[in-house]
Amino acid sequence: MSNTITIKKPFDSHVHFRRGAILRAVVKETTRTFGKAIVMPNTDPPINSLDAAIDYRNEILAAPGAGDFEPLMTYYLTKSLTPQEIARGAVGAEGTRIFGVKSYPFGATTNSQWGFRDMFEAKDVLKEMERADIPLLLHGEVHVSDDGEEADPYDGEKLFITDVLPRLLDSFPKLKISLEHLSTAIAADFMERNGEAGRLVATITPHHLVYDRRQAFSGGYRTLLHCKPLVKRAEDREAVRALAAKGLPFISAGTDSAPHPENKKFSSCSAFGVFNSPTAVELYTQAFDEMNALDKLEEFLSVSGPRFFGVEPNAETITLEKKDWQVTEPIETDEGVKLWPVGHVRHGIGNETMRWHVR
Ligand SMILES: [Zn+2]
Repeated sequence: MSNTITIKKPFDSHVHFRRGAILRAVVKETTRTFGKAIVMPNTDPPINSLDAAIDYRNEILAAPGAGDFEPLMTYYLTKSLTPQEIARGAVGAEGTRIFGVKSYPFGATTNSQWGFRDMFEAKDVLKEMERADIPLLLHGEVHVSDDGEEADPYDGEKLFITDVLPRLLDSFPKLKISLEHLSTAIAADFMERNGEAGRLVATITPHHLVYDRRQAFSGGYRTLLHCKPLVKRAEDREAVRALAAKGLPFISAGTDSAPHPENKKFSSCSAFGVFNSPTAVELYTQAFDEMNALDKLEEFLSVSGPRFFGVEPNAETITLEKKDWQVTEPIETDEGVKLWPVGHVRHGIGNETMRWHVR
């Protein structure tokens, strides 16, 4: 068994850069191991016009370490997003076009206050996306039911898979859909039966592959693992792993790397989001190694995502080496704010060791 592996430079199908000082600190963490990424639009204010996406893309390209990285922009499915803006986004301007529209269930996660309670209210926008061939990216959890009752957060994904997703697939037969950050056995099973390259795909985060809720609660609640969807039971993690290890053409890496400033993460109401870009490719590789599936790693990390979004996989390569190391430092912004990455030796689940290293 070789101790190194060389693959096309990965593609992140789901990343949060935020804006301002956090963005300036984290872009280089992504570009270290990813050549292109689908950039999430849940900034404040949200990205829901082409002009806003152009601004945001320029901010990313101006960040330290951006190099020749290609940020692929998205809109947020808000009540003010119009079919006209979808059509503009599909054509693009100033080197920016729109690669997806993200739906957040109202109230479920960071800056989800602009999301719909019932996505079907956005029917005209969804129809235009279907026509313009722009994918719908789903935070697939039901947070609040139609009668205003809050769903159990461990059941949100199950409710979405059993109720909302089948109706979406029926109502918009040509709409391309990506189910983001799978976290449950029921979602993994649904994707295995219904996934189809170019129509219904899914992304998986490193944290949902590596951790389950035993680690999230080991010795107290581990705030660096606090995210939506919550990390689930061991059997859920096993099902998500088994799906990833199959090397299916409709399953790809989407890190959902989501940095928060230290004071929001380490607070009595910890912000949702796992900041993983400093360790994501390493953790994915570790999980694939543990599953004896390193031969499927490149499809998952570098090929499947570009195929869905209609871009070329990266020509550049990276080499990973099997070598133990630990994350000992936070990432610090130019304003002195600390961002703690998952796997940190002290603030993670305790004395974690990364098994693979990007050379
Ligand atoms: Zn996300």
